[in-house]
This record gives sequence, C-alpha cells and structure tokens, in this order.
Amino acid sequence: MQKTNKNIMKPKQEIFGNNGTWTEQVQLQEELQNIGYNIVSCCTCSTTFIHRNGADIEYLICPYCGTEAELCNFSDLFYNGMPEAD
Ligand SMILES: [Zn+2]
Repeated sequence: MQKTNKNIMKPKQEIFGNNGTWTEQVQLQEELQNIGYNIVSCCTCSTTFIHRNGADIEYLICPYCGTEAELCNFSDLFYNGMPEAD
C-alpha cells in the first residue's frame, strides 16, 4: 500500500494554524505554559530562551549571557496587554 502524507491536501491554515496575529502568539505562549514550558526574554541581553515551569523554580540563568536572576525579571515573550509591534 502506498504511503500517503495526510497533510498534502489540507489547507495551509489547517496545518500551520494562524500564528500571524499577536492574539494567536499569546495563545500559543499560554498553551506552552499549560504543558510546563515558557519562553522568556532575558532581562540583560534580551535574548529569548525556553525554561521549564514549576513551583520550585525561583531563579533562571540565561544560556547566552549567564545572567542569573529571579524568575520575575525575565518577561514572557508574549503576554496579554503587551505592546504590539507596528
Ligand atoms: Zn541574557
């Protein structure tokens, strides 16, 4: 039997979702948080990185510049109420 790729006939929107809006980016960020991960921006070098969520995590260390700071100093990459790009 010939192997088929089910995604070939699906509309692009159905495969990739609509990630082109800020609202969708916030929703995707929240989905990641719900499964135990988060994407944040470093408070020193502004680079983004992924970390695990958990009640026991109080400090983060940026893998790029080595800054170690309390979790609250690293802002979520996308969040409700954030200023949107032009
Ligand atoms: Zn950094």
